[in-house]
Amino acid sequence: MRTVAVVGAGAAGTLTATRLLREALEPVHVLLVDPDLTTGRGVAYSTPDTRHLLNVPASGMSAYAEEPDHLVRWLRGSVAPDAQPHDFVPRAWYGAYLATLLARAADTGPGRLTRVHDTVTRVEEHDGGLLLGTASGDPLEADAVVLALGTRPAATWAPDELRASPRFVPDPWAPAALADLPDGDVLLVGTGLTMVDVAITADRPGRALHAASRHGVLPRTHRLPTTPPVDPPNGLVHCTDLPSLRRLVEEHVLETLEITGDWRPAIDGLRSVTTAVWQRLPDADKRAFLAEDARTWDAHRHRMPPVTRARLDAVAEAGRLVQHVGSVAEVEETADGLDVRLTDGTTLHVGSVVNCTGPVADLAADPLLGTLYAAGLVSPGAAGLGLATGPAGRVTGPTAAPVWTLGSLRRGDLWESTAMPEIRVQAADVARAVLAHLGDGTAALADPAVAARPTGAVGGLRHAASHESRNGAADPGPAGDRPDGRPAARPAAGPVAP
Ligand SMILES: Cc1cc2nc3c(=O)[nH]c(=O)nc-3n(C[C@H](O)[C@H](O)[C@H](O)COP(=O)(O)OP(=O)(O)OC[C@H]3O[C@@H](n4cnc5c(N)ncnc54)[C@H](O)[C@@H]3O)c2cc1C
Repeated sequence: MRTVAVVGAGAAGTLTATRLLREALEPVHVLLVDPDLTTGRGVAYSTPDTRHLLNVPASGMSAYAEEPDHLVRWLRGSVAPDAQPHDFVPRAWYGAYLATLLARAADTGPGRLTRVHDTVTRVEEHDGGLLLGTASGDPLEADAVVLALGTRPAATWAPDELRASPRFVPDPWAPAALADLPDGDVLLVGTGLTMVDVAITADRPGRALHAASRHGVLPRTHRLPTTPPVDPPNGLVHCTDLPSLRRLVEEHVLETLEITGDWRPAIDGLRSVTTAVWQRLPDADKRAFLAEDARTWDAHRHRMPPVTRARLDAVAEAGRLVQHVGSVAEVEETADGLDVRLTDGTTLHVGSVVNCTGPVADLAADPLLGTLYAAGLVSPGAAGLGLATGPAGRVTGPTAAPVWTLGSLRRGDLWESTAMPEIRVQAADVARAVLAHLGDGTAALADPAVAARPTGAVGGLRHAASHESRNGAADPGPAGDRPDGRPAARPAAGPVAP
């Protein structure tokens, strides 16, 4: 049986593993490798705080692009009988959804799933295949590798004194990271969607939350009911330089605002052309966009649900949220907290500092990618973001090793590559390309009916499926989800389940 190692069991890796198991016509062994105890959650969907919502309505978050109502049907049949397409549901439910789909695929498809709780430290070509080194020292062998590593928050901005302090939370999405914040006020560094979630979790009477960023830009809010996207003018799609692009986007937004009374349909209408436009920009313009425009773009493109906005406003109106425009200049640890000086001159005394600056996506930030680069298996993506990739996400390094990637590691090539509407399509593409590489059902791949097969209805050969877990760790993922689809009880959940 051919073996595929999917490295990373977040949303992207779990969905790729699901696709491999659903669509394989011959038996395939999928190794899903991630040290995390959970499956399908990753950074975004591991939060047990049910006030942390998807920032996309349920109608846009189906795991299968060809079945847009799949998530809504799953919600109705499991956790929320009254779920509506326009609902912004808890992210924890979404993690349970993905884990359930993987379990189903493992139970019904011709393949075999092994969930390996380990960290991959290197990948090398070996004897016609690939050998994966792991933190535990137990090597894994595979015929193809899919890198679904995502990107974790990096705290490169933090002074050494802060990084060394137990009062610093470098990764708010690490298990139980927000469960026991020390008494006192909290400084949130970064003012994006992560800050909004952390503020909602950390808020309590008597505690001030300070949110600081150099730019002071806050994410915008969805408006309900939504207005359908408005296509951009043709000229915008053919634009090849940043100054013209800025002008054309501004004109498109103003015109849309005039016609519909809302700027959001203009931004949403750009989604289908974003990758083509990004790929036409010269490298220098891409870097200029990242330095000067990306924050504003993200704030308008990745919006918060209205209910989340209302929760944030309630904290601010109670006088417990203060915004600062500046970054951390100096930190001194005292007997009962941290004295922090911001570049705007403010000095704060806080009980803790939480890194809300979000992920970075360069090779140097990830130890595994560094070793893959040194081994010639991968090379950096455009503008230094992620990995260089070809069709269906196959990495293009000096060697032609059978390695694929998806999600945020394709940001340099695609820009629009971090949210589920893109990741679900990429997962399907990667799975088909990997299966074709393994010689599985290449003829069937040309048949759109096979590509659009409904959940669980795997045609072709059928073999007893197997789903096992290596390394003995409990897996609250597929096996740990309750039969009704509700997330299993999780360890270390605090009073507000942060
Ligand atoms: C807070 C937050 C909220 C979001 N909300 C939404 C939303 O509502 N809708 C939406 O569409 N998108 C949302 N996103 C975007 C999100 O990035 C994607 O939806 C998706 O979760 C990305 O999943 P991923 O698997 O690519 O990455 P991750 O979730 O980061 O998973 C990567 C996994 O790889 C593992 N890993 C990394 N290195 C190794 C290694 N060397 N060996 C083994 N395992 C490894 C990690 O442990 C991790 O579990 C959100 C993002 C964040 C951060």
